[in-house]
Amino acid sequence: MSRLRYCTYCYKKEDIINEFQHCSICRVTAYCSRNCQKLNWNQHKNWCCCNVGNLNVDYEIRDCEGEGKGKGLFALRSFQKGDKVLIERPVLKFDDGFNARENTIDDYEQLPESIRSAIDDLHMVNADHYSRSLGLFISPYDLSDFELRILCNRFSDGLFIITSRFNHQCLANCELNLVNDSNLAIISALTDIKEGEELSISYINFDSDIIDDPDMIYKKWDFHCCCPRCIDNSINEKVIHLVHMEEELEEIYFSIKVNQGSKEDDNRGYSLCEEIIRICNELGLPRKHITEAYSKMAIIAIRMKLFDIAVDCLDKAILNLNESIGGCKKTPNVILEKQTCRDHVLKNK
Ligand SMILES: [Zn+2]
Ligand SMILES: [Zn+2]
Ligand SMILES: [Zn+2]
Repeated sequence: MSRLRYCTYCYKKEDIINEFQHCSICRVTAYCSRNCQKLNWNQHKNWCCCNVGNLNVDYEIRDCEGEGKGKGLFALRSFQKGDKVLIERPVLKFDDGFNARENTIDDYEQLPESIRSAIDDLHMVNADHYSRSLGLFISPYDLSDFELRILCNRFSDGLFIITSRFNHQCLANCELNLVNDSNLAIISALTDIKEGEELSISYINFDSDIIDDPDMIYKKWDFHCCCPRCIDNSINEKVIHLVHMEEELEEIYFSIKVNQGSKEDDNRGYSLCEEIIRICNELGLPRKHITEAYSKMAIIAIRMKLFDIAVDCLDKAILNLNESIGGCKKTPNVILEKQTCRDHVLKNK
């Protein structure tokens, strides 16, 4: 069954099926005009024919079952672990400067009508909720609907139209990565996903903030998460244990970098890495945790003169990075750096 498509660049919707032209190379991404195709080419050329998912081809937005859950994204085909589900550029970027509010509103007003209406359609949490739950620096009642929408939908310093439609699960089946050098949001499958399944990402980082304040999700987004972490205390305890281990590893890593560290630091750091990787794999956490642990383990292994292990750790870090943000025609800088490091260790061991 064909569905009405959206322009990949400006989010305009077709009035009739097959109204829009497709990229002549991959024949998948749809555009309302030559101009939109041209404007999107800089991004698309790196991902054309790389089997990236598209809205209303590989997944659709529809109502979730169960009351009050709103809309979500659902797979129209199966995905394999590591498949790229969505590559998206931000329609707005935010700065924290003195004129941030004015700049954002100016930027919004200069966008094409179709992008502005796609922003206006995003979910909004009302000011009443924020006045009760979040200590904002200004009264939420002084914020316009547009600003409340941004508060609820922004990821880091960008606003993304389709990315914002993914519902949250602390332990999700997809992961979101924001890649600096390409300025893109990349969503990849964390597990194999069946046709019909809802696609989810985690809005939170697993760090002290979320452990110290279990209500953070409600305060920020006005819903209570019902994922396995939030209903099963034994899983939550594993997450807390993981966060504490990551903090301890960070301290050890810092002392190695700043004042050489000791043999005990190496041994403790090494076993922390092993345990972190084990728990991440068991829980299915975003790959950035595993990549980070393998990268630190490689450095510690080099210090311990375990060069084969160091190369193996770097290979695994590269593999994880490829599954989360790689697989395109222009390899991201962070992967290139790891490859250089790996080749260097291999040559000098
Ligand atoms: Zn367009
Ligand atoms: Zn293409
Ligand atoms: Zn949860």
